[in-house]
Amino acid sequence: MRIFDEIALKSHEQVVFCHDASSGLRAIIAIHDTTLGPALGGTRMYPYGSDEEALIDVLRLSRGMTYKSAAAGLNLGGGKAVILGDPKKMKSEQLFRAYGRFVQGLAGRYITAEDVGTTVRDMEWVRHETDYVTGISRALGGSGDPSPMTALGVYEGIKAALLFQNGSSTLAGKRVSVQGVGAVGRHLVDLLAHDGARLVVCDVDSDNLAAVTRKHPEVEVVAPEAIYDAPVDIYAPCAMGATLGPATIPRLRASIVAGSANNQLADDSRDGSSLAARGIIYVPDYVINAGGLINVANELESYNRERATQRVAGIHDIILEVLRLAQAEGTLPHEAADALALRRIAGIGRIKGQYIGVPVSRRAGT
Ligand code: NAD
Repeated sequence: MRIFDEIALKSHEQVVFCHDASSGLRAIIAIHDTTLGPALGGTRMYPYGSDEEALIDVLRLSRGMTYKSAAAGLNLGGGKAVILGDPKKMKSEQLFRAYGRFVQGLAGRYITAEDVGTTVRDMEWVRHETDYVTGISRALGGSGDPSPMTALGVYEGIKAALLFQNGSSTLAGKRVSVQGVGAVGRHLVDLLAHDGARLVVCDVDSDNLAAVTRKHPEVEVVAPEAIYDAPVDIYAPCAMGATLGPATIPRLRASIVAGSANNQLADDSRDGSSLAARGIIYVPDYVINAGGLINVANELESYNRERATQRVAGIHDIILEVLRLAQAEGTLPHEAADALALRRIAGIGRIKGQYIGVPVSRRAGT
């Protein structure tokens, strides 16, 4: 693998390989773009098959964060880190503190948080060694579990898509299917049920399903595979990625797809076009599921739940802007979201070229 070619391909700024022999730490921190502010993104811990696989993953994920933060209107750039190893076997205080020291060494260019394979507890170890960590527990003044905020963002995004489609965002009587009622899905069910939506849910985990039906006995439960055929207005994928492809899109009866899952389209261009050809509005995943990120970014200016909630609710207007831009320019919604993010980065980058003498005291994420 030609490492510099790989890094230059998508214009990453900096990639740091971290090694600590005493704890066994092997990590890669990738900073994609810091035009808007410090690069924020979680630390993933995963038993990668090879160093190359880990590098490709961290480059892809860090670039995704640049777009996500930019589209969410945050003053943050895109970054991500991976720790190579099995999270079930390799975790220790020493390992995460060693990692935290590398993060601190970047002097704020990269701010970390939890991600797949890492937890709030791990980030508390990291926090012993660095100021540049978010997503810590509420007990320590952090924002805690991001899932309710992610669900709030999805709920606002659904309402924005309805407003775009019908001129009204009312949910009463609308039929919504929710695939996966885990951390995000069950909060989304609460919000939708409160507004009078008629819900169809599925999950492979019977405990998670039972928790939802106990609270909302009126909700209809279908088998996981049957969710695509449910006669609904809105389909909210809140489980795994790549559920939208040639095998599922023709079965959908919804006219809006809007959910929290990451990477919902198995192939962006092919499946984005198939959805549009069927007249289905696709709300881009990385914009609608940014509630957790917006919430965590608020920790950077001393966490305030009310302020964070207000900002997450702003996803409504961002989605509306994305859908209107796609309509005006004849592009697919995910292309419009990318365009919006790139335009913001380019625009803010241009004004930063002018020397103003005094540094701005406002913190990142505001
Ligand atoms: P979770 O693991 O708590 O919940 C996922 C649920 O989906 C589980 O109940 C699981 O049993 C179920 N599931 C798995 N496979 C399924 C299948 N084939 N059919 C039906 N149900 C299935 O995860 P989460 O935190 O709720 O996240 C859900 C999705 O949203 C993920 O794709 C995640 O990456 C994304 N996301 C989450 C957040 C967040 O704040 N938690 C933020 C951004 C994006």
